[in-house]
Amino acid sequence: MLGLLDLHPSKPNGSGYTQVRCAIHGGDHPSLSIHMARGNWRCFACGEARGDALELYRRAPRRHRHR
Ligand SMILES: [Zn+2]
Repeated sequence: MLGLLDLHPSKPNGSGYTQVRCAIHGGDHPSLSIHMARGNWRCFACGEARGDALELYRRAPRRHRHR
């Protein structure tokens, strides 16, 4: 599911979380913290928005989706 989003994840930290540019609101800074293996995420810029991989995909605008 996460592979369908244009996330460009960086190297995960010790907890397995990776900072990426938010697929929901966009922006120039990686404000979305996501666990690529589990799919759970939180975006600090989106007002503490959080969810699982399906929730992120559902919220992302079509331009961030590969198909
Ligand atoms: Zn966001």
